[in-house]
Amino acid sequence: MQPEQAQRAIVPGWRNDIQFPGASPSSKSTDTTMLTEATSVLPFGNGRSYGDSCLNSDGDLIDTCRLDNIIAFDRINGVLTVEPGVAFSDLLQIIVPAGWFLPVTPGTSQITVGGAIANDVHGKNHYRDGTFGCFVVNLTLANSTGLHVCSLSENAELFRATIGGLGLTGIITSATINLMRIHSSDMNVETQVFNSLDEFAEISRPLHESYQYAVAWLDCTANAKSLGRGVFLNANHADNGTLQYGSKHPGLNVPVNFPSRTLNHFSIKAFNQLYFYMQRRNVGKQLQKHYHSYFYPLDAIGQWHRIYGSKGFYQYQFIVPLTEISTMKKILTVIVESGMGSFLAVLKEFGKVSSPGMLSFPREGYCLALDFANRAEKTEQLIARIDGMVANAGGAAYPAKDRLMSATSFEQYFPQLNEFKQHVDPRFASDFWRRVNG
Ligand SMILES: Cc1cc2nc3c(=O)[nH]c(=O)nc-3n(C[C@H](O)[C@H](O)[C@H](O)COP(=O)(O)OP(=O)(O)OC[C@H]3O[C@@H](n4cnc5c(N)ncnc54)[C@H](O)[C@@H]3O)c2cc1C
Repeated sequence: MQPEQAQRAIVPGWRNDIQFPGASPSSKSTDTTMLTEATSVLPFGNGRSYGDSCLNSDGDLIDTCRLDNIIAFDRINGVLTVEPGVAFSDLLQIIVPAGWFLPVTPGTSQITVGGAIANDVHGKNHYRDGTFGCFVVNLTLANSTGLHVCSLSENAELFRATIGGLGLTGIITSATINLMRIHSSDMNVETQVFNSLDEFAEISRPLHESYQYAVAWLDCTANAKSLGRGVFLNANHADNGTLQYGSKHPGLNVPVNFPSRTLNHFSIKAFNQLYFYMQRRNVGKQLQKHYHSYFYPLDAIGQWHRIYGSKGFYQYQFIVPLTEISTMKKILTVIVESGMGSFLAVLKEFGKVSSPGMLSFPREGYCLALDFANRAEKTEQLIARIDGMVANAGGAAYPAKDRLMSATSFEQYFPQLNEFKQHVDPRFASDFWRRVNG
């Protein structure tokens, strides 16, 4: 694979960087007549999925960014009806000043509502609130057979297939979502250190009683006695204060791709150590932060993916059952020994709240997301090794953050796959789907 191709497939596709394979840019359209013309099509949100579930090299992408109207906003009850191309960052600009917040949000606000539904995204509050799909009241879907209104009471199976359905059941053309009430745009944030994965497991559950959000950063370069150390960042929405939207624009910008030699075992280890000691200084303090800096730290750095250089990086996110903390330790040991540990390793405990989505990734367990700089075969072999350990432990990997999953793993990770397949529109496909569907 050429570096440019690898990068395009690996880094999240910043909208302007995306080329539309097999289609001239003028064929980007929200016009659904394409459904009868193209070989295969796939809806495209904002390209923030890592990997290839939002790419369609053998067909066309349907860019939904112009479907960005707010159709209705009930400010009293916090119910919102929108078109799918509305970005979370734009939604927040409208709902936060009115005292409402997204019930579930991932670690970036640069995603669309359509993308959030199609990957059934999760946030730092899964153990309490579940996934984004749990808050979708209904949606309208355009596919080869027409326009379908779907909810848990109408076309329920198509609804359940579309939530987490990876854009393969049709194009979501509108959705109604329940919002969450807030009284301030600030968060009360507390920091807690853990020195091993056992300690993480011990303190994680009680934290869920006191905080709506809990997320940990894991030092995946620390070995021996420090193996599995990290820092929890726990938060609740503040009870009162002003309701202010945060900045939409990044404060910093990475102007060019970093040379790959700047990112090596020593620089990553140094970064991890520094971060650990800096965060440790906040233990015992309650910090008041704007929601933007708590939920979306990476949005503050424009083009942050360039830190990984022109070859880009792989992201891999997996979950193992709560009984498998020993597997998590073994995986961490493999990563430390490989010397390929990442800057960003995010550890969370997911809860029991089940999602309506047939292919939803979140389930009860420990969930770790990792970035690995792209070192070609070496990185792919490392991820394959970790994936084998995840599969043996009865875990699963997240399609939104994958470009290596095999058909066998996919079938094992998603037990409702056969049911889901009955709702896949034959005109829709993605690079991911071609790989995992045999
Ligand atoms: C910094 C960062 C942090 C992240 N943190 C998290 C996290 O904490 N939790 C999490 O769950 N994810 C996380 N993600 C992943 C991201 O939230 C998801 O990949 C999300 O789905 C991307 O949305 P998008 O609008 O960019 O969609 P795209 O990436 O363009 O597409 C995603 C999928 O949605 C489908 N799709 C898009 N629009 C429609 C539509 N109108 N109808 C039907 N299907 C459609 C596409 O076909 C594709 O399958 C993170 C990503 C980044 C870059």
